[in-house]
Amino acid sequence: MRIGAHVDPADPLAEAASRAADAVQFFLSDPQGWKAPNPREDADRLRAAEVDVYVHAPYVVNVATTNNRIRIPSRKLLLGHATGAAGIGAKGLIVHGGHVNAGDDLATGFDNWRKTFAYAAENGGFGVPVLIENTAGGDNACARRLDALARLWDAVGEYDVGFCLDTCHAHAGGEELLDLVDRVKAVTGRIDLIHANNSKDAFNSGRDRHDNLAGGTIDPELLVAVIRAAGAPVIVETPGGADGQGADIAFLREHLGGTTA
Ligand SMILES: [Zn+2]
Repeated sequence: MRIGAHVDPADPLAEAASRAADAVQFFLSDPQGWKAPNPREDADRLRAAEVDVYVHAPYVVNVATTNNRIRIPSRKLLLGHATGAAGIGAKGLIVHGGHVNAGDDLATGFDNWRKTFAYAAENGGFGVPVLIENTAGGDNACARRLDALARLWDAVGEYDVGFCLDTCHAHAGGEELLDLVDRVKAVTGRIDLIHANNSKDAFNSGRDRHDNLAGGTIDPELLVAVIRAAGAPVIVETPGGADGQGADIAFLREHLGGTTA
């Protein structure tokens, strides 16, 4: 099982080495900004690396919204990041499920997701697997709880869409972790990546504050059980830099039995 961390984008391979990580995730541009990513000077090194590379789309991306001035640029930005991710040989592009505004019909959000994949298909495809990630908060989210996720997958099912399960988001979002993998797979048929995070906040708090794996409000054994059941690559998005994340990676290797695949 590949285990890695979300790292600073300046030198991801050095960050991987400092954590003994065999996967990294990073942003290609300011996560709060609308800038399309520039080609990276280390693209050849990243493509050739033993370390698996994942890209996280900017947080501002919300392809579900009914607000044209957010949705249209979000589609373009997502496609631009997919192109950037393909250029560095990334295994996937992770993007949050997004939401509609209060008072809007969630059905429109799901259909906007379908249109996003249709738009990409008309423009040559995304070029890397797009992994939709579950989110922690909001009453109008497309991928907070499994009932919404099922409707989202009904909408995008004709496309090859991946799923990234964030354990902190599930817990804070109000989904029990016990047997969660089975319930998710009943909806999506797949889990492509785990974001392994503990939560500083309570179950169903709707808050998104990650904690180190042995801390936080989730029983670490339950985290390990979810990760083992998913059988997917793992990225920790936990605090503490190389020391904190390196300890989390070591914790997982120890508790998952230390086998690599
Ligand atoms: Zn995450």
